[in-house]
Amino acid sequence: MGLLQSYRRSSHAGECVIQSVSDVEVRGKRVLTRVDFNVPQDENGAITDDNRIRESLATIELIVRNGGIPILMSHLGRPKGERKLKYSLRPVAERLAALLKSSGAAVHFAEDCVGPLATTVVEAAEHGDVVLLENLRFYPQEEANDPEFCTALSLNGDLYCNDAFGTAHRAHASTSGVAALFSVVCAGLLMQKELDYLGNALIEPARPLVSVMGGSKISGKIDVITALMDKCDTILIGGGMMFTFLQAQGFNVGSSLVEQDRVELAGKILRQAAERNVDLVLPTDTVVAKAFDNNAERMVVSVDAIEDGWMGLDIGPQTSANYARTIESAGTVVWNGPMGVFEMSNFSSGTRAIADAMVRATGTGTVTIVGGGDSAAAISQFGQAKHVTHVSTGGGASLEFLEGKSLPGVVALDR
Ligand code: AMP
Repeated sequence: MGLLQSYRRSSHAGECVIQSVSDVEVRGKRVLTRVDFNVPQDENGAITDDNRIRESLATIELIVRNGGIPILMSHLGRPKGERKLKYSLRPVAERLAALLKSSGAAVHFAEDCVGPLATTVVEAAEHGDVVLLENLRFYPQEEANDPEFCTALSLNGDLYCNDAFGTAHRAHASTSGVAALFSVVCAGLLMQKELDYLGNALIEPARPLVSVMGGSKISGKIDVITALMDKCDTILIGGGMMFTFLQAQGFNVGSSLVEQDRVELAGKILRQAAERNVDLVLPTDTVVAKAFDNNAERMVVSVDAIEDGWMGLDIGPQTSANYARTIESAGTVVWNGPMGVFEMSNFSSGTRAIADAMVRATGTGTVTIVGGGDSAAAISQFGQAKHVTHVSTGGGASLEFLEGKSLPGVVALDR
């Protein structure tokens, strides 16, 4: 119960005690399990990345091995409360069946998540079977956390397990309300791993604790930067948000992305960091371009030499080298948000330099954690996701966790 002990100590979680699925008696029981099978699909409905399904296999296989019957439920896309074929989980059931083939488990798909179509499949399932229920969001009651819908969902299981960290920041029927109807609730192995790594990074990090913050806007990350100021030794800033900070320091930033209504706040954060002895580091150079275009004319300039008509789209090489050194001498690194427009090859060097430094640091014993969302996409794009300590599966959830907010999906597991 490593995670759960560490999570229990988490100051922002308070006294929180969560059982792991590996500690619960599941033999002969139907384990109603919330998974995150919200996979990307192409226009023909073909799954383009099955990582989220693969990430859930450990929990599913453990339940089957221990004699339980996993009854899986998930959302897929945004069907807005209507039954739309495009958002059916049937293709996911087929992919899951292929992935579980070697384990001998058989996957049965129920064309509804509640009511007689669900009950028939759930009641027919035997040991060795896995049931996947149809998309929860075909019902508006799912996102509304509707009590009657929670009751209907609860009829599908004898106990409840949540393995969907990516939706744990939402108080929906399947992540929150339904849990209250079970006497036995537990965290799946993926949920456990996420809480373990993110929790330990905040509670008892190997120091120095360095946070790398990037992404387009300061507005989405203000709360997390403020929260991390109480915990981190160093915060390295990159991405579009760097220009709001630079403008607050009085630099000209040309036509770079700036949130004018956050400049004052950026200045306040810089002052707070100085007062609290946190090293909040801004880039010293940047790659500027004439347009938001991979083929636009570009050059590297010092941050005090950005001219009108140029926009900064990446951190520069001097900043990359400086940040890499800080990362490599850290005890723990938490990275959230790309350093530049990494989707365009000419502006991906800064983000790649951070990913490379994370990998090198991991090799020498640094705990390296990549928050979900775009930084997770970037490290996967560079083929390095397997070479860092942990890549979170939840973008929004990991940000809210780092902010110190309690996640409804986690609170619901606390007994
Ligand atoms: P976020 O969703 O806030 O984490 O932002 C991620 C997005 O920020 C990515 O799509 C990047 O392309 C974008 N981004 C990073 N740096 C910049 C920049 N300097 N200017 C504009 N967009 C940026």
